[in-house]
Amino acid sequence: MTSATIVLFSNTLRLADNVALLTAVDAGDPIIPVYVFDEQSPKVRPLGAASKWWLLQSLGSLQNDLRKRGSDLVIRTGNTVGVIGALASETGAGHVFLTRGYTPGARVIEQSLHEVLADRNIGCRRFGGHLLLEPEMVRTKVGGIYTVFTPFWRTASELIDTIEPQAAPDHILAPKVWPKSKAIRSLGLEPKPSIWADPIAQHWQPGEAAAHDRLVDFLEGSVQTYKQARDFPATDATSALSPHLTFGEISPRTLWFEAKKHMAANSATSTGGAHFLRELGWREFSAHLLFNFPEMQTEPMRKQFAKFPWGMGKTDHVRAWQKGMTGFPIVDAGMRQLWQTGWMHNRVRMVVASFLVKDLLWHWRDGEAWFWDTLVDADFANNIASWQWVAGCGADASPYFRIFNPTTQGEKFDAGGGYVRRFVPELAALPDKYIHNPSEAPADILEMAGVKLGHTYPNPIIDRKLARERALAALSSIKQL
Ligand SMILES: Cc1cc2nc3c(=O)[nH]c(=O)nc-3n(C[C@H](O)[C@H](O)[C@H](O)COP(=O)(O)OP(=O)(O)OC[C@H]3O[C@@H](n4cnc5c(N)ncnc54)[C@H](O)[C@@H]3O)c2cc1C
Repeated sequence: MTSATIVLFSNTLRLADNVALLTAVDAGDPIIPVYVFDEQSPKVRPLGAASKWWLLQSLGSLQNDLRKRGSDLVIRTGNTVGVIGALASETGAGHVFLTRGYTPGARVIEQSLHEVLADRNIGCRRFGGHLLLEPEMVRTKVGGIYTVFTPFWRTASELIDTIEPQAAPDHILAPKVWPKSKAIRSLGLEPKPSIWADPIAQHWQPGEAAAHDRLVDFLEGSVQTYKQARDFPATDATSALSPHLTFGEISPRTLWFEAKKHMAANSATSTGGAHFLRELGWREFSAHLLFNFPEMQTEPMRKQFAKFPWGMGKTDHVRAWQKGMTGFPIVDAGMRQLWQTGWMHNRVRMVVASFLVKDLLWHWRDGEAWFWDTLVDADFANNIASWQWVAGCGADASPYFRIFNPTTQGEKFDAGGGYVRRFVPELAALPDKYIHNPSEAPADILEMAGVKLGHTYPNPIIDRKLARERALAALSSIKQL
C-alpha cells in the first residue's frame, strides 16, 4: 500500500511552479496539502494585522484551487513540528515535502522537523522556490558573503537560469480518508475592527490567479515606462506584486521568465524590464543578508550604530506620523496610503522612514514594527533591510547624513501634487506651488483653498532645520565614541 505525502504550504501559497507539490504529484502517491497556522514555534514572528487579512483571503483561494483539482487544504494550528509529526502518525504518511524558508523562525522549524521525522523514518525534503537563488549559492571569489548590493547582484544575476516555470497540476491524488481540518475562518485572522479592512479589500485581490493577472497587466502596460516613472507615486507605475511575492502566490522565477520573454519579444519593454528585474535583486539581497546575518533583525549591521541615541523622539510625534498628521504633506499622504490600502509606494516609504528615524529620532525598529503590522506585503527580510538602509545602519546603507527633506522630495517626485491630493484631500484645492509646503502659503491662498492650519490640517510638528541639526549632532556623538 502506498503511503501519503504531506505537502506543507507555508510561504508558498500557490500550485504553479511549486516544486514541492509538483515533485509529490510526479511521485504518484496520495497527497495531503497542509497549512499550519503557527504562532508558537520559537523565533516565529506573529503576523501583523494586514498580513493576517491577506492570509485569510489567500488560504481561501488556495483551498478552492486545490478542491478544483480533486484535493483539499487541511488547516491545523500550533507548533509546526508537533502538528506535522502528529499528522504523519495519524495518516501514516511516508514523506513530508515543503518549500524552504529563510527567516530565523523557518530555519528552526525545518531543522527540528527534519530531525523528528528522520528519527521515525519519514522522509523530509525541502525545495527552493521562494527566492531566485539559494542564499548559499552566492559567494565572493574567496568564498565570502556579499554585503554590498552591486557586486552581489553582478554575481547573483549571472547564476539565475531562465527556466520555464512549471504549470499547476491538473489533478492531485487525494488520500482515501481526509484528516480533520479546522475552518479557515476559525483562525482569528479577521481584522478588529473589521471596518478597517474594507478599503484595503477594494484595492487588492489576494490569490494565485490574481497574482498572475497582475503580472500580465504590468508586462503589457507600465513595464514600458517603469524606469522613468517608478519613482513618481502619483503614477501607479510599479507592479504592486509585492504582497503576492511575500505570500508566494507567484514565484519569482515566473516573474523572471515572463519578463525576459516579454523583453525578447518587444524591445520597448527591455529597459523597463531590466530595471524591474534589478529590483527583484534587492529582494534577493535582503533575504541573503538576513540569512547570513540573522542578528540584523534587532542589531544594526554597522556596529557603531549600536550606540546611536535612537528613541529621543516624543510619543505624540510618533502618533502623528502613524496617523498621517505631521503637517508634512508627502509624509502624511504616504502614511494615509498605508492606512487605507495596506501598501505604500517605495519612494514614499523612504521619505516617511527617513522622517521617523532622522527628523523625529525614533528607533528604526519602531518604524519597522509599524510597517510589519500595517503592510500587506510585510516581509521579514525586505522590511528589516530597508529600514536599516534608510536609517544609515544597514549593510549597504544610504549614508546617515543624507537626510531627506520631505518638502523637496514632494516637489521633485510629486510635482503636480496628484499623490498628496489623493490621500490628503483637505489640501486638494491648494495650488501646486504650496501643495508640499502649506505652512509657507499666504493667508489669502490658504483661505481660498479652505485650509485652516492647525484646524483642517496640522502645522508642521517639528522645525526641520532644528531637527536636521539634532540628527547630525546625534551622528557626531557616535563618531566620537
Ligand atoms: C522602509 C521600507 C520598508 C520596506 N518594507 C518592505 C516590506 O516589508 N516588504 C516588501 O516586499 N518590500 C518592502 N520594501 C521595499 C519596497 O518598497 C517594496 O518592495 C515595493 O514598494 C513594492 O512595490 P512593487 O511590488 O510595486 O515594486 P516593484 O517596483 O514593482 O518591484 C518588483 C518587486 O521587487 C521587490 N523590490 C522592489 N524594491 C525593493 C526593495 N527596495 N527592497 C527589496 N525588494 C524590493 C519587491 O518584491 C517588488 O514586488 C520597503 C522599503 C522601505 C524603504
